[in-house]
Amino acid sequence: MNYKNAIENPVFETIAAVAGEMGVESYVIGGFVRDFLLERGTPKDIDIVAVGSGIALAKGVAKALKEQPKVSVFKNFGTAMIKTDDLELEFVGARKESYHFDSRKPVVEDGSLEDDQNRRDFTINALALSLKKENYGELLDPFNGREDLRHKIIRTPLDPDLTYSDDPLRMLRAIRFASQLNFRIEKESFEAIRRNRKRLKIISRERIVDELNKILLSDKPSIGFSLLYKTGLLEMILPELTNLSGIEEKEGQRHKDNFWHTLEVVDNISENTDDLWLRWAALLHDIGKAPTKRFDKEIGWTFHGHEFVGSKMVSRLFRRLRLPLNEKMKFVQKMVLLSSRPIVLAQDLVTDSAVRRLIFDAGDHIEDLMTLCEADITTKNPRRYKKYHNNFRIVRDKIREVEERDHVRNFQPPVDGQEIMDFFDLRPSKEIGIIKDAIKEAILEGEIPNEYEAARAFMIEKGKKLGLTPKENQDKK
Ligand code: ATP
Ligand code: MG
Repeated sequence: MNYKNAIENPVFETIAAVAGEMGVESYVIGGFVRDFLLERGTPKDIDIVAVGSGIALAKGVAKALKEQPKVSVFKNFGTAMIKTDDLELEFVGARKESYHFDSRKPVVEDGSLEDDQNRRDFTINALALSLKKENYGELLDPFNGREDLRHKIIRTPLDPDLTYSDDPLRMLRAIRFASQLNFRIEKESFEAIRRNRKRLKIISRERIVDELNKILLSDKPSIGFSLLYKTGLLEMILPELTNLSGIEEKEGQRHKDNFWHTLEVVDNISENTDDLWLRWAALLHDIGKAPTKRFDKEIGWTFHGHEFVGSKMVSRLFRRLRLPLNEKMKFVQKMVLLSSRPIVLAQDLVTDSAVRRLIFDAGDHIEDLMTLCEADITTKNPRRYKKYHNNFRIVRDKIREVEERDHVRNFQPPVDGQEIMDFFDLRPSKEIGIIKDAIKEAILEGEIPNEYEAARAFMIEKGKKLGLTPKENQDKK
């Protein structure tokens, strides 16, 4: 098979010409070839194998290119990278690899193209296109990767036990590709992953999270997460999630399986947002349900306070996985904490004050929160499904209406602490907090409008009730 049309970009001719002059064979390999054959377009990152020095080839190519790009050399890995305006070219010399048990860093020696294809993780990632003159554009496919592409199968070129044990990151890559491409992991491979799951220990948390994020960003993340679950990997990475699985029954009452429910929510939200952190929020929104689960004879199963407990768990989980401990984490925590609020509104008649409170608490994240809560509707009862969605539309309208009128999003009470202190001639004290809070409450409850005059009058009233005397009267005494 010839695929000259995959390598129409003039950069490939340059590489071929330079390699020809140097007397080394060169090939395009890996993701570029795979994605072209899958008609996913021609990726911007391109991997080139040279049978010889990849670094020398990279330097030669850089010299031959008009824009004279810089070459970044990674001597330890024997690789070099060239970044042009629209491409990222990674060069490596063809190699053979052997592994030690306690590391995913192989011992490397020079090898042939076949050796190099043997060390690739999956048959669909071992596909190469020749850049040699004699067979320019020819597909070199020793493991029948094209067939696997056609049948949507993830398979390792060599014995899967060896492949996964050598570099356990490949277990996560297999699942990530399955999720991204909507492929199946071949049975032998799947079982090898299960058997080798404990090997995950030698993988850094940063790499694990990298793959998790890619799974979360795929069109249907449940494909990846259910594979992680079934292979036993998820239990090692996110036990908070696997703790949600299972259904208990007491006195004839059952609760839903919150693990599978969560995966449905993640799939739902992925239809409406590509925001990684909002997807994380969906993944973690119910984790507080495992530690808060109780059975009550009167009301059945309860998960009282799970939102609060869950949002506390988020920070421990982020710390453990080396996820960022910045505003992204705070966002996820906030989403988890507020995740049940709009639902309560949607089930009942909505009052203005409840909506004002929601807007105040969610601030700029109110839209994201609504997106999360709508994704949380997983009922299989069509009548209820319709009703809940309809109610959410009402809540959304109400939010818009209340926001336009009252401007409570991120609002600062129109009278601040300093003004209270000045008016009653107070030092910083408990009373100031009480008055401030009361003003905020009065505005949110709709007792007074969100305006200065009204807030000031309210402050004076409240102060008097607390037994405070305005400064001007104090002076008169
Ligand atoms: P994408 O860039 O879309 O994530 P990719 O297949 O290009 O997919 P890269 O991580 O860019 O993935 O790796 C490029 C190629 O290097 C792969 O196609 C594969 O042949 C090889 N490769 C990458 N990581 C491994 C690994 N851990 N074990 C074996 N081969 C690997
Ligand atoms: Mg790539």
